Amino acid sequence: MERTFIAIKPDGVQRGLISEIVSRFERKGYKLVAIKLVVPSKQFAEKHYHDLKERPFFNGLCDFLSSGPVLAMVWEGEGVIKYGRKLIGATDPSKSEPGTIRGDLAVVVGRNIIHGSDGPETAKDEIALWFQPKELV
Ligand code: ATP
Ligand code: MG
Repeated sequence: MERTFIAIKPDGVQRGLISEIVSRFERKGYKLVAIKLVVPSKQFAEKHYHDLKERPFFNGLCDFLSSGPVLAMVWEGEGVIKYGRKLIGATDPSKSEPGTIRGDLAVVVGRNIIHGSDGPETAKDEIALWFQPKELV
């Protein structure tokens, strides 16, 4: 069954949005197969966002991701990679549709509260980066 990596970033955890966000995935009908709270190192954040290393915001983004607890999760279900991104909404919350997580709960792109894998390959890589196989139930 298809799986994706979803993370509530430090701003989402700090703002107390864990239950709000987790419940949206639960209510949709996806299955939670792994979850843990971690403070990633800067080096780990750079690995997670390696695709963006040429972008001007890369350093700030990695500083931010490593600035506090992140809720790392794996969710399972038919079409969860693409539909999970739909639940999350557009990258820039000032343009995300109302009804989406970013649309309802965030305002600026540098503090958009949640990450979701953008395709099958990244989902596989990100799950392997954040979790050991035995942590997946
Ligand atoms: P994520 O990978 O976190 O789920 P995304 O796939 O919607 O987000 P990406 O293009 O992968 O968007 O960008 C990764 C993250 O980098 C974004 O979530 C956002 O926090 C940050 N980011 C993207 N564009 C900008 C920007 N122009 N300025 C500042 N931060 C940005
Ligand atoms: Mg992305």
